[in-house]
Amino acid sequence: MINLAIASGKGGTGKTTVAVNLALALIPDYDNVELLDCDVEEPNAHLFLKPEFELEKAVGIPVPAVDHDRCTFCGRCSEVCMFNALAVLKDQVIILEELCHGCGSCAYLCPEKAITEYNRPIGTIKSGSAGKLKFGGGYLNPGEAMSPPLINAVKKMIQPDHISIIDAPPGTSCPVVSAVSGCDYCLLVTEPTPFGLNDLDLASQMVSKLGLPAGVVINRSDLGDDRGEKYCRHAGLPVLQKIPFDKELAGLYARGEAVVSHNREWRRRFKALFSGITGNKKEVSRP
Ligand code: SF4
Ligand code: SF4
Repeated sequence: MINLAIASGKGGTGKTTVAVNLALALIPDYDNVELLDCDVEEPNAHLFLKPEFELEKAVGIPVPAVDHDRCTFCGRCSEVCMFNALAVLKDQVIILEELCHGCGSCAYLCPEKAITEYNRPIGTIKSGSAGKLKFGGGYLNPGEAMSPPLINAVKKMIQPDHISIIDAPPGTSCPVVSAVSGCDYCLLVTEPTPFGLNDLDLASQMVSKLGLPAGVVINRSDLGDDRGEKYCRHAGLPVLQKIPFDKELAGLYARGEAVVSHNREWRRRFKALFSGITGNKKEVSRP
């Protein structure tokens, strides 16, 4: 129905707070809302939602193993690997598993069929529900760098007839691109500081390159200056909500609770935020 990514150019802007509150604000009116936590390096949406998990599955990527009895050390596998994950020496093939993206090219193109693949675990996906809200998330193994395949596994849980709210990783690198690609809309959460503005600019460039419609939420809007708003006007990014610093919100955040579950006015504001988004995405309709 709609895949809505919540992203930010930097961490700590309140991206997950917005994602969780937006999802919960829609629950009374919609039966088909799901939140997918794609911030797999630091997943924490479940701390707010406390879902009951019904499914847990290990996720891995296929990495090569070389049969040195068949290998002629021709070097073809090393040539085709775009990620420098293979080095062929005189009588040895060295595989750097951490660099392998599991693309399968080396095994496919090995002339001696000397390469087989095995599954290297990178993390876990879990799914379940928190009341009417469906929940799914990815949990990257500690020390693991290869997050995009896990993010893609989380996104495979998207149900096409749902309002799917995707909590993307912070930043603008590969994991974020994996999380927001293919979404219908990207909501960028920022804060009115020089750092926030710098990272909003990077995030804005990213969504522009991906051709995604986008809008902005300015968190702690009363604590900085108005350069972020000026930037948005100049860049043609609608500011869909400003969230002033609020003691109640901060206190609830510290306790791992969502403000829309306690305060009707905040629920109204987050519903209005969704209306602002769907005003930009006309094909969304109520079930
Ligand atoms: S392509 Fe196959 S035969 Fe050639 S070096 Fe790699 S594993 Fe060995
Ligand atoms: S599977 Fe792809 S990324 Fe991994 S070593 Fe082979 S060619 Fe490189």
